[in-house]
Amino acid sequence: MKVNNRNWRLWVLWVFWASAFSASASTILFEGKDVRLTLEFSQPEAAKYQDEVIQLADHAFSQHKKLFGGLPRDLQGKPYRDVKVSINLAEQIGGDADPGEVSLTIADNGLFGYASWQTILIHELFHLWNAESFRYADNREQWFNEGVTDFYTYQTAARLGLLTPQQALQIAALPVGYYSSFENTGKLSMREATINKHSKIDNYFLVYNGGWVTGMLLDRDIRQRSKGQYSLDNLMRWLYRNYPRHERSYSMEDIVLGLQQSCQLDFADFFKRYIDGKQLLPLEQLPLGKAAWALAFNPSSENPYPWLYQTLGIVWPHANE
Ligand SMILES: [Zn+2]
Repeated sequence: MKVNNRNWRLWVLWVFWASAFSASASTILFEGKDVRLTLEFSQPEAAKYQDEVIQLADHAFSQHKKLFGGLPRDLQGKPYRDVKVSINLAEQIGGDADPGEVSLTIADNGLFGYASWQTILIHELFHLWNAESFRYADNREQWFNEGVTDFYTYQTAARLGLLTPQQALQIAALPVGYYSSFENTGKLSMREATINKHSKIDNYFLVYNGGWVTGMLLDRDIRQRSKGQYSLDNLMRWLYRNYPRHERSYSMEDIVLGLQQSCQLDFADFFKRYIDGKQLLPLEQLPLGKAAWALAFNPSSENPYPWLYQTLGIVWPHANE
């Protein structure tokens, strides 16, 4: 283990206990601008990821904090900046979040053509707000809890430069394809896909991917209709401010109300059709193919889809000239 580190201000480092099975765990503390991280590695080999995990967690946490307009809150509603990240190596990537801590399973392989351990880390950190600081009233809102978290995960990944603009567009097309070709899409609403006998894993591509596509559609539509004055971020801030988990939880009706109050837009009909209802989301409102075409062949022209690029976290090349 090395104590000095080129890029990061590690203020304490120590290795402690070797268990009866001779595995050892190590802990590293890192003081960031907004977050104070405690990293725990369950295998010594996992420590080689420490710099990358620290850099990404630090940047993603700051980005999320800025989006929500405050620190995540614990079960008593108290804001905190100490986050424990438990890191484990396995065959398949994975993660989990609880107030003040996330677990991250790192593997060499990605999942479904979009997920990587890096995007899992961004996703789980986002849950410190969406899920743990404010929370759904019941399981019907898993599309929002998981899907909108995924929407922001990939927007954040593009903004942080983890994805090139072309990759961000390619990745955005995947949930559209998985959602629209999923066997239960059109048979179950996104809300009923996670109640009773159904789990969010049974209907993964309807719930996670349908919710992600919903996030893209809402955000793009809000930006376009308000001419850039609002975005889905306004709803996220509204939920964070008005629904502290220890006081109240949100359901679909609260999201509709939140959009009305924070963005001055009425989405009641949209939710009735596509979220509570079984209608296929209006996918034609996401011209991903043409947006990818424009980026590939006409990057020096005027940005043809300014709101969609913003939704995906992509800066149009011409914008900086
Ligand atoms: Zn999740």
